[in-house]
Amino acid sequence: MRCLVLSDIHANIDALEAVLDAAPAHETVWNLGDVVGYGAAPNEVIERVRVLGTTFVRGNHDRACGERSSPHLFNPLAARSVLWTRRRLTPAHVGWLQAMAPGPVVPDGPQASCMHGSDRDEDEYLSCLSDAREPLRRARTQINFFGHTHVQGGFALEGGGWRNLAPPYSKGEGVETCKVRLRPDGRYLINPGSVGQPRDHDPRAAFAIFDGEEMTVIFHRVPYDLRRAQLRILHEGLPGQLAARLNAGR
Ligand code: ZN
Repeated sequence: MRCLVLSDIHANIDALEAVLDAAPAHETVWNLGDVVGYGAAPNEVIERVRVLGTTFVRGNHDRACGERSSPHLFNPLAARSVLWTRRRLTPAHVGWLQAMAPGPVVPDGPQASCMHGSDRDEDEYLSCLSDAREPLRRARTQINFFGHTHVQGGFALEGGGWRNLAPPYSKGEGVETCKVRLRPDGRYLINPGSVGQPRDHDPRAAFAIFDGEEMTVIFHRVPYDLRRAQLRILHEGLPGQLAARLNAGR
């Protein structure tokens, strides 16, 4: 089974449409959370993704925008966007966010876990190998997908050695892909990257395709109409930094 793995769309409909256009054939979609927050099209993004699959893991922004936690836990920029998103969301979409399950979730299909931050805390950032050691040792599944850092790649423990999975792209303008073969004896924490607000200095939208038969992950980067996403943010009166950071990819 081939799975399209999405994370951190962050209400960026322009990036999401580009990802769905570019995604190769797949049977299912796994979504690792932060569908909303920061971007200017929360209702449009929820309408588009909610019909794509049944596997959704709640992110910290989904929790706050769905009124399950206080926006004051966030930095001021994120808190402003949570309050704006709450005012914009339809009651049905608030209800959909409230019903999202916190991770880890083990979907039907190939054996893997899906989480937002880590398996024990959706707010925990797994940013470097030392962050990943404990979560990977205690993981119940060999393959574990996570998001939250907005950095594509992840970490592998193979034959007793650790490996960083960040793709070595040329950082060109077009579409780029990077295929990673998963070893039967390896253990993996894999981040598909952020669709709508990458923070790995590459502004292109990120996603991954996981093939459970072939045991491969193909990381993708695709350009999208970034200017359009920025204009939506500015038009809605959201902070200009939220538009500017899309260019910078951070
Ligand atoms: Zn996020």
